[in-house]
Amino acid sequence: ARQFTRPLNELANQFNTLLSAIAGAERVFDIMDEEAEDEDDREGDVEILQGNVTFSHVYFSYENADSTISDMNFHVQPGQMVALVGPTGAGKSTIIHLIMRFYDCDSGAILVDGRNIQQISRSSLRKNIGFVLQDVFLFEGTIRENIRYGRLDATDEEVEEAAKRANAHSFIMRLPQGYDTVLTEDASGISQGQKQLLSIARAILRNPSILILDEATSNIDTVTEMKIQEALQQLMKGRTTFCIAHRLNTIRHAHQIFVINDGKLIEKGTHDSLIEAHGYYYDLYNQLSRKDVG
Ligand code: ATP
Repeated sequence: ARQFTRPLNELANQFNTLLSAIAGAERVFDIMDEEAEDEDDREGDVEILQGNVTFSHVYFSYENADSTISDMNFHVQPGQMVALVGPTGAGKSTIIHLIMRFYDCDSGAILVDGRNIQQISRSSLRKNIGFVLQDVFLFEGTIRENIRYGRLDATDEEVEEAAKRANAHSFIMRLPQGYDTVLTEDASGISQGQKQLLSIARAILRNPSILILDEATSNIDTVTEMKIQEALQQLMKGRTTFCIAHRLNTIRHAHQIFVINDGKLIEKGTHDSLIEAHGYYYDLYNQLSRKDVG
């Protein structure tokens, strides 16, 4: 399995240069999973039941690059929602890459349910980690098939049930062919917000204990945005969530906020505690609030 790390990293690298941030992660994860399937030893197949995540003195740098993550330490309890905030290039996506084992850390350890993730197969991680990303990966196929991608053995009833819980059912039913509507690869027939709803339905089907959210920054109409928020609230319940957050409302309600700057976790706490501390977050929040009011 060790030999495999290199080509996988290269693959992840190629995708990283093609696609920004963690966009496309779901697809990269799948390809890596297929390639790794035969190689990963079965011992690494575990079910992640709790979803607690610990970083202990984690250091990481991309090949030929300066240190990207240094001495990162944190603990996330099962079911907690963590907002990752910080300037561009700070290392937020890299933290997600490490949790998904796109890359292994250079030193230190990442534990999931108390187990070092180097001892957890990528396929197990994939089964237990769900995504809702800005750029939703959709393929040429029916809406039904696209939702079922979350869990391939799901029945039609389960697919529809997931779509209902994701607030996607009503828009799907308004399409001429309903669940049998064929999406083109760029899914030009549906809106950005509707793609997000499909992505949420997919994640509901997968029923993961760990969830990765990359909040959309693009403009989505208010009604759809409300549907997305409501569906996300449902989806996050009882799951450990890492959210690359852009909305003040999401950040404010996080159980923990991690402020990342230059690869370091410089502040962590709740909104209230960080405001009280009058540090980096306090300034960042004030900047964002001013933008928010216009
Ligand atoms: P943003 O908010 O812009 O998405 P971020 O906080 O998610 O930024 P990262 O994408 O984690 O930041 O990037 C952290 C640093 O690592 C940046 O300096 C970035 O240029 C670098 N980096 C990211 N991916 C790679 C890669 N595949 N190879 C080399 N360097 C990389």
